[in-house]
Amino acid sequence: MSHLLTQEEATARAQELRKTLNRYAFEYYVKDQPSVEDYIYDKLYTELVQIEEQYPELIMSDSPTQRVGGKVIEGFEKAVHDIPLYSLNDVFSKEELIQFDQRVQKTVGHPVSYCCELKIDGLSISLRYENGLFVRGATRGDGSVGENITENLKTVNSIPLRLNEDISVEVRGECYMPKASFVKLNQEREEAGQDVFANPRNAAAGSLRQLDTKVTAQRKLDTFLYTVADFGPMTSKTQYDALNELSEIGFRTNPEKRLCNTVDEVWAFIQEYHDKRAELPYEIDGIVIKVNDFDIQESLGFTVKAPRWAAAYKFPPEEAQTVIEDIEWTIGRTGVITPTAVMTPVRVAGTTVSRASLHNADYIRMKDIRLNDTVTIYKAGDIIPEVAQVILEKRAKESEAYQMPTHCPVCDSELVHLDEEVALRCINPKCPAQIKEGLNHFVSRNAMNIDGLGPRVLAQMYDKHLVSDVADLYKLTEEQLLTLDKIKEKAAGNILTAISASKDNSVERLIFGLGIRHVGAKAAKILAEHFGDLYAISQADFETIVSLDTLGDIIANSVVTYFENEEVHQLMAELQSAGVNLTYKGVRTSDLEKIDSPFKDKTIVLTGKLTQFNREEAKETIESLGGKVTGSVSKKTDIVVAGEEAGSKLTKAQSLGITIWNEQQMADALKDSHKN
Ligand code: AMP
Ligand code: ZN
Repeated sequence: MSHLLTQEEATARAQELRKTLNRYAFEYYVKDQPSVEDYIYDKLYTELVQIEEQYPELIMSDSPTQRVGGKVIEGFEKAVHDIPLYSLNDVFSKEELIQFDQRVQKTVGHPVSYCCELKIDGLSISLRYENGLFVRGATRGDGSVGENITENLKTVNSIPLRLNEDISVEVRGECYMPKASFVKLNQEREEAGQDVFANPRNAAAGSLRQLDTKVTAQRKLDTFLYTVADFGPMTSKTQYDALNELSEIGFRTNPEKRLCNTVDEVWAFIQEYHDKRAELPYEIDGIVIKVNDFDIQESLGFTVKAPRWAAAYKFPPEEAQTVIEDIEWTIGRTGVITPTAVMTPVRVAGTTVSRASLHNADYIRMKDIRLNDTVTIYKAGDIIPEVAQVILEKRAKESEAYQMPTHCPVCDSELVHLDEEVALRCINPKCPAQIKEGLNHFVSRNAMNIDGLGPRVLAQMYDKHLVSDVADLYKLTEEQLLTLDKIKEKAAGNILTAISASKDNSVERLIFGLGIRHVGAKAAKILAEHFGDLYAISQADFETIVSLDTLGDIIANSVVTYFENEEVHQLMAELQSAGVNLTYKGVRTSDLEKIDSPFKDKTIVLTGKLTQFNREEAKETIESLGGKVTGSVSKKTDIVVAGEEAGSKLTKAQSLGITIWNEQQMADALKDSHKN
């Protein structure tokens, strides 16, 4: 549509799109309350991209298209902080907290209220806005001079490019990496043979200080803002109100805050979050206590480095000691071999820990970890057990440095370092360990999703020469399955049904399942949607792939290289003759407009027993018609389909006044739907 727009129309439309998209982003990333489905956002976004391609002069700094990164900068410029960033004085116990409060009361002359906040373990950032527009983002540096990281911060979705009001302010807060993103990033890095980050804080720091902002954009960073440095027209008189005002003008603020009138209340807050800490989706290292009233803050003032009106209570580190009993090496799908410490079980931060990844040989060397060493362990990101350090005083005199393996423990080929990788790899393509991992990956949930084929069963199939590659799965017979341990007729039947059902999967599952290096589930979906089928992808050239949104040259290279292999083409032919679907069955964003269906743009919940459909099929069909199927009923649900014996979801839908259909009504609606 956009190619018909005149410059004037384009200007107006682009402005409207920027405004709408920024509002959607605000609802999604800041408020956690999206009001539209993702594909509507995607559609408008694509429209804006097209307009901006046609009229590049319309690209504004608050356009959401500026968030994807891609600008490669030479280095970071200095950013002077006219108002310095302060640090906080620490307190480590209730006694020290009481002393802090007494000092405050002595100066002020009466008791005061405190605003208690979580101390987010990330990096301080300072954001400046002029007339509502984000103009500068900076690190803290030494407090007076930091680095200008505006381009990097623009890729962080929860940082507004334009505020809800056209005001000029400077605000401060924390940029952090959520625990889940951290875990995923480290898994990917380990799998790719790269160094891992020690904790989310380091990962966030590393991600923000990237000269290539595209890398920052991929890192899933988030923010909480909590300080107003330059108020502009903001009117709050207390910290607590300022947090609310920050949220109103467009920033993401932390909802876990509390106004406390006594030290006992502050202490209760600290205790509460000490216990809740492990469940939070981000890491905190303490609680910040701030005098709530700004006038009183001012009367208390600052020491050389920190405000007299605030304190940071630091949680004691949760560490434990244990002994390294063994180091096991396992081989992943791509041949990377990773060491795991097997330790005497010990409790740390709420769970019993007996294993911890040691990541790679360099890590073991750097920390000089040896068998029978006593070590301290902690949980990175509050979840992943990590060895902190060896306690040298407890090391036996006769102890010797750990001997790294030189050969694959499974196939005995020599291990190598590829390029600059820290990882050791087995590069034997016939390595049984790698093939077994590849089979596991193929059947896994986000890949072909074949139930009943656990690692043991697959390993046996491989060892008994029933299966040597993924295509062989589709040639298995019942007799063959019955030769496996513990597989009786019923189980064999179930396995065959599951394998057969997987033939109908939309092709992105297969693409992901093939285990092409660097191609995750998301990239697989993008490839499938763009090219339509596996053959088209196998013929695509580097330029075409790299031009697709978010697929960088690493992925493009890997895909092209993968399909250059003659054996891959044989495998494709075998899969096809086995009847495995090689085409994309989902909806393409561009096809959505052509759909005519009562499910289009609707959020649907399926509950109770369905008799005509299997739940998964019904879900996929509805999704292919542009509907969204979710698991729980809320105000945003449009239709609840209630099968037999529907329970609480039905009751909830009734109380919310949501449209309720029985199974037959759904069946009729499906019949009435068209994909033109
Ligand atoms: P420290 O680095 O231990 O001196 O602690 C001060 C740092 O805590 C500040 O520079 C902030 O980056 C960080 N911080 C995290 N959460 C908060 C919060 N809610 N209020 C103030 N500072 C915080
Ligand atoms: Zn091997």
